[in-house]
Amino acid sequence: MNEHTLSQRLERVAAHVPAGARLADIGSDHAYLPVALMRRGVITAAVAGEVATTPFHAANRTVADNGLEPRISVRLANGLEAIEAGDDITAISLCGMGGETIRDILDSGKARLSGRERLILQPNGGEQPLRQWLMENGYQILHEEVLRENRFYYEVIVAEHAGPVIYSEEQLYFGPQHLQARSPVFLAKWQRLLGKKQKTLVSFEQARHKVPEEKLQEIARQIEWITQMFG
Ligand code: SAM
Repeated sequence: MNEHTLSQRLERVAAHVPAGARLADIGSDHAYLPVALMRRGVITAAVAGEVATTPFHAANRTVADNGLEPRISVRLANGLEAIEAGDDITAISLCGMGGETIRDILDSGKARLSGRERLILQPNGGEQPLRQWLMENGYQILHEEVLRENRFYYEVIVAEHAGPVIYSEEQLYFGPQHLQARSPVFLAKWQRLLGKKQKTLVSFEQARHKVPEEKLQEIARQIEWITQMFG
């Protein structure tokens, strides 16, 4: 993967960045996503934010190699602190991090959100707490995708601020758009997870005295939800 050829995962994220967007890619690593989108003429400006110095230098290098310094600002900053008032950002991507990390970045950077940005999120696990944050903060989930690459399942969640939204526990768990679309790859992901959770439940039950009852009940409830969803 590089700025010319994105991974399938980042390609699916790229597909949801609106034409003409001013993008903030937070946790940008090599800045492949903003550089690829700029080279394709999809975006008009970008900020690549990185909290760690090695990826920050990598991002600077990709931007410089492509002569894009005037249009892509690479900033060493924690989360949404990379966004400055005059950036006029219209889309924010947060990809390749745990859902809880993405949620924490959004939550601690709330003051930097205008509410007009499209959020394009690609969590690696932790989708439920991320969707919970979106709901609690008035973001509607517009699109969801699951894709499989290198034997892993990845999720993409696209959300925009819309005022109060309410999702049920099942919608937060599976994803409201996924529950409607029920794509083959979504069903395959949950089939695999169901198998894993059933195995976990058996081992928990065998070690009952060592596992908190709450944990046991939680996994049993998840198995029930998944089974019902297939029902
Ligand atoms: N977004 C790229 C992708 O999807 O291919 C890179 C993903 S990489 C696994 C996660 C990156 O997020 C790392 O480079 C890490 O330094 C950065 N990161 C983690 N927490 C961050 C934070 N609070 N603010 C900015 N960057 C962060």
